[in-house]
Amino acid sequence: MTTSPMMQQYAEAKTACGDAILLFRMGDFYELFHEDARTAASILGLTLTSRDKNTNPTPMAGFPHHQLEGYLGKLIRAGFRVAVCDQVENPATAKGLVRREVTRVVTPGTAIEDEILEPREPNYLTSIKLGKADRAGRVPVGLSWLDLSTGIFFATITSEPKLASEIGRIAPKELLVSENELSHLSAVDPDIMRTTRPQWTYTPANTQTVLKDHFQTLGMDGFGFGDEDQLALQAAGGLLAYLRETQKYSLSHIDRLSPYRSGQCLEIDNATRRSLELTATLRSGNRAGSLLSVLDQCVTNMGSRVMVEWLNNPLTDQTHIEQRLDAVQVFLENERLTQDLGKLLGEVFDLERMAGKVSAGRATPRDLANIARTLEKLPEIKAKIADYDSDLLESLHQNLELFEELRDALLTALADECPLTLKDGGFIRDGFHQQLDQLRALAAGGKDWIASYQASIIETSGIPSLKVGYNRVFGYYLEVTNTHRDRIPESFIRKQTLKNAERYITPELKEYEEKILTADEQANTLEVQLFEELRQQVASQGNRLRSTARILAQLDALRSLGTLATRNRYTRPKLSQERILKIDGGRHPVLDAQAKDVAFVANDTLLDDETGFIALITGPNMAGKSTYIRQVALITLMAQIGSFVPADHAELGIADRIFARVGASDELSRGQSTFMVEMIETAHILNNATDRSLVILDEIGRGTSTYDGVSLAWAIVEHLHDQLGARTLFATHYHELTDLANLLPHVKNLTVLVREWDEKIVFLHQIVPGATDKSYGIQVARLAGVPGSVNERAKEVLAKLESEFLTPENRPKLSQRVGDHKPIQLTFFGPAHHPLIDTIRDLDVQTLTPVQCLNLIHQWHQRIQEEAQ
Ligand code: ADP
Ligand code: MG
Repeated sequence: MTTSPMMQQYAEAKTACGDAILLFRMGDFYELFHEDARTAASILGLTLTSRDKNTNPTPMAGFPHHQLEGYLGKLIRAGFRVAVCDQVENPATAKGLVRREVTRVVTPGTAIEDEILEPREPNYLTSIKLGKADRAGRVPVGLSWLDLSTGIFFATITSEPKLASEIGRIAPKELLVSENELSHLSAVDPDIMRTTRPQWTYTPANTQTVLKDHFQTLGMDGFGFGDEDQLALQAAGGLLAYLRETQKYSLSHIDRLSPYRSGQCLEIDNATRRSLELTATLRSGNRAGSLLSVLDQCVTNMGSRVMVEWLNNPLTDQTHIEQRLDAVQVFLENERLTQDLGKLLGEVFDLERMAGKVSAGRATPRDLANIARTLEKLPEIKAKIADYDSDLLESLHQNLELFEELRDALLTALADECPLTLKDGGFIRDGFHQQLDQLRALAAGGKDWIASYQASIIETSGIPSLKVGYNRVFGYYLEVTNTHRDRIPESFIRKQTLKNAERYITPELKEYEEKILTADEQANTLEVQLFEELRQQVASQGNRLRSTARILAQLDALRSLGTLATRNRYTRPKLSQERILKIDGGRHPVLDAQAKDVAFVANDTLLDDETGFIALITGPNMAGKSTYIRQVALITLMAQIGSFVPADHAELGIADRIFARVGASDELSRGQSTFMVEMIETAHILNNATDRSLVILDEIGRGTSTYDGVSLAWAIVEHLHDQLGARTLFATHYHELTDLANLLPHVKNLTVLVREWDEKIVFLHQIVPGATDKSYGIQVARLAGVPGSVNERAKEVLAKLESEFLTPENRPKLSQRVGDHKPIQLTFFGPAHHPLIDTIRDLDVQTLTPVQCLNLIHQWHQRIQEEAQ
């Protein structure tokens, strides 16, 4: 079995690109072979053929090279990596086999094609590097993330327990990790593509070299990194090393690496992000119905991307927040400005990503034309935002550059209707370049000549059907059908015989052909050259263009928040550093915006040191508890983004963290949720909340039996009250918990008004002080269509349970407080020889959190039960 030199070349490229699908450029096609061809056939719907059918049959599939973007998009979305192998020398001048090289390996995190990128989302590639554990066993992690389409590049240091949430915040499309550290990513969203890297690419030596080489600096201090940031820089260097290896084009638009300092941002972990439905809903995972879908009224994709960033990184610095609020207020108060700016921004293109494409050498004539159109709008935009009473607008105004020279250069050079590709020319304006005009005239003149030549030959020869044609092999020719064969003049030279016709050439025709083709070709070459000069000119200002693009994006985001505030009657929140949360007439931003027929019922909230900072909300199912506590969290979050809020009045102490948890059985979308998950997640809150945090707990303790559930809930509230002092809203159907308000000074009870009428209940969705004494579950079941007999029986059972089990002396042991600020006393019952006892003895019970204790008790109960059976 012999392999052709080309297939040998293919085999080499295939080995070099690992597990990626290889697109192999052959002439005007990209071809796939073997397994890749089969994959492509099924995913891309290409026809599977065979190469070397007789000697060495090889499955093969392919598509024309200009369809690359579309097919790449499909393969990437299907979860593949794709290597593109191009011809790297001109086939016309190459000696022997054309040299081919893998020029890019495209992955979800390295895509820059419009076809693959989500226009309204950043497209991050993330890289991590683990450090050595400190004495307390904490493992620091260097984390870096880059959007190749825009050049935004950050690095920071976090810790292993926070890694999954940090990655949740960044929401990357791909994760780079050293092969020996892959096992540390088990808590990270499994849907994010993992790419393992050789360990050595992350060494300090290698990463330093890569960073210095790329940024042409001696060190990274200039970017604000210090000695303590070593791990962050290793992560960033590892990321750049990957790009330089897989993307063989200029990465010059990555012009800076910025340190990201946690603590400047409100921390939100993954569970909270999910349960508050910030960027996607719990059930369907869609954007529609999320907070983002309400906040994002942007008219540009750049603006939408900024909104995503703001939502994922709410602020904690009051000055910074007030600056955004000031700007939003300007838009709220100046409707005309908001409208006009919206209209102007609606006409700009995605300057940020186009500038990225220009630097990468992948911009099309259409891209440059769109950049020019965008630059044309800048003076008007700049004039619009001048002289308002807002520091932020003032600084955006000042930093907005106009690029008049570049704009004029582009507008004079580019044709009005620019084609999408370079291949057929026509993008440089007539009259821009003298030589180009001449060549074009020559080519066009040649075509005119051919038309008149055809007419004159028809006349002299008397062959009416004679026509001039063109193909690649013979160039221009005269075609005569066989009926007229006898009239052919002697001067015709026969070139080709077809079934019904013959093709001829003449010396004159060839002479003109030469002129036309040369002129056409020269014109094309010249056009491409002129385009390249323009592209370079744009690329040289790429970084400044991107800064201006970011300004447009921020303007759009602020304008969006202004529009929203006007449309939905939001108010400006009053922020403070106190432990306070006071909302009058608060509404849930998403439900409020969706409410059509029936108005959303507004509710008040007050959490403070005087009246209590922990509220227990009891009430029947479907009354509106979950909605209420979420709305409080969302209002706080919106305020810290710099948005006005859906309330009549809001006074908010800035939160450092927001925690939201939904009891296991309430979280319908995640079937595998168990009591265990609930425990772990709740333990996380108890270990991380501070007196500046806001905690939202929804039916925690439901993933287990009533007894355990009440105990758990009880212990959590005690801990939040005594140890942490976090503002807390706890919705629960365990009315036993309402006793806590009598025991703990900072706990208060709230309930939801329900009107009972003729054995039916009507939900008023009104939150009022007080506690419910029953759960109404049966009435709700009736509403849901549960048969009457089942209901009757349930009523009996409930009555029995209430009278026999839920007596005060039967309340969970944990409710017996052993004095302030002492860990909960635990007594273990059960067989002394039980193996779990050893586990427990090995632990220092005094340092366990209540949740950990309960967790152990729970496990133990289960084991005992299992063994008893
Ligand atoms: P609970 O948690 O008490 O079981 P939910 O908060 O899930 O109740 O609310 C049930 C439904 O009631 C929601 O889907 C919503 O449609 C409606 N609802 C809740 N609060 C309000 C309100 N304030 N105004 C109008 N409708 C509401
Ligand atoms: Mg609920």
